[in-house]
Amino acid sequence: MSAAASPATASRVTLSPDDPGYDAAVAPFNTTLTPRPALVVEARSPDDVVAAVRRAAADGLAVTVQATGHGLVTDLADSLLVSTRHLDSVRVDAEAATAVVGGGATWKQVIAAAAPHGLMPVCGSASGVGVAGFLLGGGHGPLSREFGVGSDHLRRVRLVTADGVERDVDADRDPELFAALRGGKAGFGIVTELEVGLVPVARLYAGGVFFPGEAAPTILPAWRDWVATLPDEASSSVALLRLPPDPTLPPPLQGRFVVHLRFTTTVSAERGAELLAPVRALAEPIADLVGEMPAAALDAVHSDPTDPMPVWDASALLSELPDTALDALLAVAGPGVETPLIMAELRAFGGAIDRGCGEPDSVAGRGAAFGLYSLAPMFPPVAAVAPAVAKGVVDALTPWSVGALPNFRGLADGGVLGPLWDDATYARLLEVAHRYDPDGLFRRAGWRL
Ligand SMILES: Cc1cc2nc3c(=O)[nH]c(=O)nc-3n(C[C@H](O)[C@H](O)[C@H](O)COP(=O)(O)OP(=O)(O)OC[C@H]3O[C@@H](n4cnc5c(N)ncnc54)[C@H](O)[C@@H]3O)c2cc1C
Repeated sequence: MSAAASPATASRVTLSPDDPGYDAAVAPFNTTLTPRPALVVEARSPDDVVAAVRRAAADGLAVTVQATGHGLVTDLADSLLVSTRHLDSVRVDAEAATAVVGGGATWKQVIAAAAPHGLMPVCGSASGVGVAGFLLGGGHGPLSREFGVGSDHLRRVRLVTADGVERDVDADRDPELFAALRGGKAGFGIVTELEVGLVPVARLYAGGVFFPGEAAPTILPAWRDWVATLPDEASSSVALLRLPPDPTLPPPLQGRFVVHLRFTTTVSAERGAELLAPVRALAEPIADLVGEMPAAALDAVHSDPTDPMPVWDASALLSELPDTALDALLAVAGPGVETPLIMAELRAFGGAIDRGCGEPDSVAGRGAAFGLYSLAPMFPPVAAVAPAVAKGVVDALTPWSVGALPNFRGLADGGVLGPLWDDATYARLLEVAHRYDPDGLFRRAGWRL
């Protein structure tokens, strides 16, 4: 039972592996992993989080935390898992252009509350992702070249630290802890509530163009050159996708190998079409879905999967993409390659991502030109080779790799975070983590403690 909760409350919120509801409470988005924490506390209030942290300390269990399970990369063994998924309140202050969000809310909920006011959060490509998990890792999304990473908009965080105390943290009250929470990812506490700024974006010119995969050798170098010409108000990514024969996909895309070029801009549709024109004309598209859309429909740009499935993923940040790098990518993921890969994706960064928010933070990878992400399916008959296939994409581009983003740390890395930051930032993160969690109650995968 939870240390500080009444027996009735505790029986509702604390689950052991044999309890009904345990599997649903720990379920990850990537079903390759079967997490087996020793206990799960389904927090319904910040007090439940406080009680859970105190109980873990008393029982000698490490504390882990999960909201949606989109970022699970370890099996959580021997830990007390605090599930924040029920702490999902969202309050938008339209005048201040801010949202006060529970520690388990998703971007979808924030978007739904913000959109009626013509406002958007700086979120990622998939709105099913949790707000806290995303922002703690910085958070790179389709609006980031114009508005910065998600954590640039973080105003305040309320979190429960290892001593079981709930604290309000912002740039004035505890600048060092606040800077750690802006991109330092894991190990400082459990967020019960946060306040984030919203941007005045109601509509977009955005979407994806699907080209035949055979055009990849033409499209990739042209895309690389083209993204360098885009204003900060526009962003793009490109993915080599091996689509399944899924009847819910539009018929021309079912079972096809395609190049999926994504484009997002806040400029007018007319100007957006001008910007996109050079790459639109690179090949005859199978489907061209770029157009005017409500900003709240941002998920349609990447069309990331929304249902859990077993995958293996790997990622890297790249300093540049010379022709040799693109050739290396095509050699492992391009046309004619027999591979079970689902996706090899390049995202173009730069713009406001590199400028930062003008306050101390811990965002990794500012200055990297591109993000690389690969995904392979973990089901028969290819599961045995999927890890090597996903990792092989990242390995092929090692000469251009300049680290990785904590949010994209996949199974290939076991969620190891330590090497992602420059030495000074990493030393600062360790110092703050030691100050607030001297006994290492919160699990920090791969940190050199
Ligand atoms: C389909 C998909 C698309 C994605 N797109 C993007 C993208 O465009 N840009 C991007 O930057 N990332 C993206 N991500 C990565 C995502 O931001 C991270 O995986 C993030 O950690 C997910 O947070 P979560 O709460 O949804 O996941 P969870 O698995 O619930 O949490 C992951 C981790 O976040 C931390 N965390 C979560 N909640 C709390 C809390 N309340 N207090 C303290 N720590 C907490 C913990 O360290 C936890 O282990 C994507 C992931 C997926 C699966």
